[in-house]
Amino acid sequence: AADRPLVRIVIVGHVDHGKSTLIGRLLHETGGIPQQKLDQLKAISARRGMPFEWSFLLDSLQAERDQGITIDTSQIRFRTASRDIVLIDAPGHAEFLRNMITGAAQADAALLLIDAAEGVRDQTRRHGYLLHLLGVKQVAVVVNKMDRVDFAEPAFRAIEAEITAYLADLGVRASAVIPISAREGDGVSERGARTPWYAGPTVLEALDGFDPARAPGDLSLRLPVQAVYKFDDRRIVAGRIETGSLKVGEEIVFQPSGKTAVVKTIESWPVPPAGQERTALRAGAAAAITLDREIFVERGEIISTPASRPHAARRLRVRLFWLADEPLETGTPVIVRLATSEARAHVGTVYQVVDPGHLSTSQENRIGRNQVGEVELVLSRPVAVDPQGVNPRTGRLALEVGGRIAGGGLVISVLDQEAARP
Ligand code: GDP
Repeated sequence: AADRPLVRIVIVGHVDHGKSTLIGRLLHETGGIPQQKLDQLKAISARRGMPFEWSFLLDSLQAERDQGITIDTSQIRFRTASRDIVLIDAPGHAEFLRNMITGAAQADAALLLIDAAEGVRDQTRRHGYLLHLLGVKQVAVVVNKMDRVDFAEPAFRAIEAEITAYLADLGVRASAVIPISAREGDGVSERGARTPWYAGPTVLEALDGFDPARAPGDLSLRLPVQAVYKFDDRRIVAGRIETGSLKVGEEIVFQPSGKTAVVKTIESWPVPPAGQERTALRAGAAAAITLDREIFVERGEIISTPASRPHAARRLRVRLFWLADEPLETGTPVIVRLATSEARAHVGTVYQVVDPGHLSTSQENRIGRNQVGEVELVLSRPVAVDPQGVNPRTGRLALEVGGRIAGGGLVISVLDQEAARP
C-alpha cells in the first residue's frame, strides 16, 4: 500500500563484527532471497569444504547485479510488519561519511553492531560518534555473536551498560540493545530461544519501531542548481528539490547572488499535451524550470522563496569529522562542497578537538586523523548555506584535499557579521 512509511537505516560496526551476516540473514528471513539461490551457495561451500558465509551470498548477489540483475547490496530493501526498509551498508568511514554528506545515503536511523566476544571497540565508539555528528538520533544496538559467549546474560549486560552510557553522553538514546546470533539466526526475526532472560524486541521489531524522517516536503524550498542549459533562446535551470516545493508563478530567489525571478514553466520530457503541463513539484523531484526574465545564475546557487532564504555566507562554524593523515589546523586549505557548490576555504580558528574513541577533549589546536572538532571555515567567496538545525540537507558539507574526501560535517552556525539577523 502507498501509505507504508519508508525508513532508511544505516548499519555500522567494527569490521568482522557481522554486518554482512546480519544483512544476509535479514534479507533471507524477510523473503528476499530465493531458497534455490541459498541452497546453491550452500552446496558450493560444502563442495569446497568451507563453511557457508552470508557474505558469499551478498557477494554473489553483487556479481549478478554487475551483470544487470536486481539487487544493489549497498542499499538492501525489505519489509517489516509496517514499514518499507532501505538498509544502507557503510563499508568504511570515508564512504559512509561521503554518502551521508552528499545525501546518497541520508539515514533516518541506525543499527550499531557489536561482537559480543570483542565488546565495545574504538571503532564502535567512532561509529557512534559519527551517527551523533550526522544527526542520526534513532539508534538500535545489536550485540551479535552471542553464541561465542554461550548466550550468557552477564556478558551482554556489561556491553549494554557500556554502550548505552557512551551514547547517552552524546545525547543519543539507544531504542533497544538486542542480543543476537546472526549466523545461527537467534533474535533476528525470531525470538532467541537461548536468550530467555531477554524481553526486548527482535532486530526486525526494532526496525519496525523506527520513525520515518520528517518529510523533506515540510521544510522550506531548497533547490540547489546543478546546471543551467541554453536551449534555443531559453535558459533552463536544472536541479533536484532537496526540501519544500515549487510552483509555477511563484517568486524565487537565488543565493548567494540574491537574484530574483518568477517561475515561468516547469519543463518535462516527453513534452506533455497542451494543458497538462506540470505546475508544481515537491521534494525529491528533479526540476527543470524556466524563468520570467533573463538573469545570469550559476551551478552551486540555491533556489528558495524570498521569505525563507538560506544565508549567503563566507564564515561558518562547522562540527566535522577528519579522515586525512595530515591534521587540520589553522590555515589548512580545503575545498568545501556544499550541495552543488564548491569553494576554496581555509581553517580560521580551531575551537575544539574531541577524540571520539574516548570522548576526551584535547587542548591541542589541530584535528588529527579520525578526530572530531569544531572549527571556523573561511571561504574564498560566499556560498548558500543553512545551519544544520534549520535544514539538514543544506546544512552539511564535505571537505576535500587533493581531490579526495578528507572529512565532512555539519554547519553549526553562520559567523558573518552581515548575516546576523535581527
Ligand atoms: P562484517 O565484516 O561486519 O560484514 O562481518 P561478516 O558478516 O563478514 O562476519 C565476519 C565473521 O564473523 C564471519 O566469519 C562470520 O561467519 C562470523 N559471524 C557473523 N555472525 C556471527 C555469529 O552470530 N556468530 C559467530 N560465531 N560468528 C559470526
